[in-house]
Amino acid sequence: EAHKPSNFLRQIIEKDLAEGTYGSRRWGGSPGDAAHHAAGQPDPARVRLRFPPEPNGYLHVGHAKSICLNFGLARDYGGVCHLRFDDTNPEKEDTEYVNSIKDAVQWLGFGWDNKSPAGHESNLYQASDYFDFMYRAAEYLIEAGHAYVDEQTVEQMRISRGDFAHPGTDSPFRSRTPEQNLARFREMRDGLHEDGSMVLRAKIDMASPNINLRDPAIYRIRRAHHHHTGDKWCIYPMYTFAHPIEDALEQITHSLCTLEFEDQRPFYDWLLDRLCEGGLVATPHPHQYEFARLNLTYVLTSKRKLAQLVYDHKVSGWDDPRMPTIVGLRRRGYTPEALQLFAERIGVTKSDSWIDYSTLEGALRDTLDPIAPRAMAVLDPIKLVLTNWDAVMGAGKLDDCSAPVHPHHPELGKRSFKIGKEVWIERTDFEETPPKGFFRLFPGNKVRLKYGHVIECTGCSKDANGNVTEVQATLIPDTKSGTPGSDAVKVKGVITWVGVNDAVQAEVRLYERLFVEAHPDAGGKDFIENLNPNSLKVLQAVVEPSLAAAKADDKFQFERHGYFAADRVDHAAGRPVFNLAVGLKDSWGK
Ligand code: ATP
Ligand code: MG
Ligand code: MG
Repeated sequence: EAHKPSNFLRQIIEKDLAEGTYGSRRWGGSPGDAAHHAAGQPDPARVRLRFPPEPNGYLHVGHAKSICLNFGLARDYGGVCHLRFDDTNPEKEDTEYVNSIKDAVQWLGFGWDNKSPAGHESNLYQASDYFDFMYRAAEYLIEAGHAYVDEQTVEQMRISRGDFAHPGTDSPFRSRTPEQNLARFREMRDGLHEDGSMVLRAKIDMASPNINLRDPAIYRIRRAHHHHTGDKWCIYPMYTFAHPIEDALEQITHSLCTLEFEDQRPFYDWLLDRLCEGGLVATPHPHQYEFARLNLTYVLTSKRKLAQLVYDHKVSGWDDPRMPTIVGLRRRGYTPEALQLFAERIGVTKSDSWIDYSTLEGALRDTLDPIAPRAMAVLDPIKLVLTNWDAVMGAGKLDDCSAPVHPHHPELGKRSFKIGKEVWIERTDFEETPPKGFFRLFPGNKVRLKYGHVIECTGCSKDANGNVTEVQATLIPDTKSGTPGSDAVKVKGVITWVGVNDAVQAEVRLYERLFVEAHPDAGGKDFIENLNPNSLKVLQAVVEPSLAAAKADDKFQFERHGYFAADRVDHAAGRPVFNLAVGLKDSWGK
């Protein structure tokens, strides 16, 4: 993949492929359950990655980075990427989220069909399928003297764990025999003990400088209904125990996670080393590599906080076009190509930083510009009357105008519309008393109506409050765009317009950043206080007749305004609704 810029993960993968690191994977000890696990026989020639979301919310732009990274690396190196639902936590999970995650991955352009010779039809996994194996692994650790049941209170455990400055102290339950621990653990499983009354802990080192190695809890009692396993279990594995096992069972080679898990890596390795010794998983086991999570200015990337915006009705739902969720971005007008380009441009690094929101918008603009059909729209219309129209063009007459669908793609053809005596123009394109440097309409000035004629402004009408209600101008004959000699009259301004005669009414939704602070949840302030009260503006606009045929999700460049998408939910034939996806220029810093 010479055309892709390298990064530390690509280098690691290329080295492992060159050295055949995973080519001789085998099980040590006696054959364990691993031989029967879901992923089947080793597939040594391939890199295997995984994207392991917890199905407890809708995915956001940070997850898009991770999806593009994992599925993209698998694609580039002839490997496989698993979509794995990390559903070991019974309480927060829901099939609504499972379905939305599948949709998001597919929409982004990735799938989980297994093209591998291992012969499995799908690379769709769910961690709860491994509960039996995880339980077996826990019993193995107990039998081998690597785990014990601790009956201290939560508070006692917290105190005895110590802190950065002080080593921990051993639990009085730490010296129980494997037989005692096994009996206790089975009682936990069989529901003989209260929730929270005891936990299973790995027996590692209470004095370790890494607090994660001070006998972390690996199983807890929790009487909760699981969306997949129902009431079968009243004990559930902790995430830090479950995750390495999931990776190992699926024969993942490179387990990519965000930097905050760096301190967990020693436990990841400790656990899989023990299970390799016991012959429960194959060796070499998967390795964890950390990369910087996406932090995007003006954006929250936390499912919990995004959920709060939804449940507190600060936005219209998970797919509100202002939300950084994949469904929100999609509704706003983002495309898979734009998010892939964004992921490529930000790359992967080993240190946290903030990506400027303009990088995301730039990726959308750069992917839409070459393909989006053009159209004229007047977002804040005021009527312009061409007072000499009847004399010059003929009373009631309409004149045909046309424009390319796309300026660089003549093969896409032309759009046509008509000009008549009355046209809609932008209110801001007229000034009775023009400020310096204003080249558009003011009395005495000439401008071109784009794809139409040159006109000269003659005046305006006002209401009792002095608000302009209509602008008047005269049409200058023989200046129509595309006709010989049409550029004889020089003008400094060109304005967009829509003929009153064939205008289509449309609702246009303009969006601004959802938060006024670049780091919405920093500084101790509640992020709700940082919401931008002006993040949505709804306009009744007029658009050119070609847009009457727009279908939901279609994207356009409204000339001079930006890129717009027909709303996926509310747009309908006869009731067009367009969302501002991104402006024409980077206005983020304004
Ligand atoms: P949240 O904190 O928003 O709930 P999470 O990390 O708990 O996110 P998971 O469902 O566990 O959500 O995430 C699945 C994968 O997505 C993980 O491998 C995680 O590393 C990755 N991921 C989550 N957030 C980001 C982010 N901001 N940037 C890059 N990757 C991310
Ligand atoms: Mg998580
Ligand atoms: Mg998180």
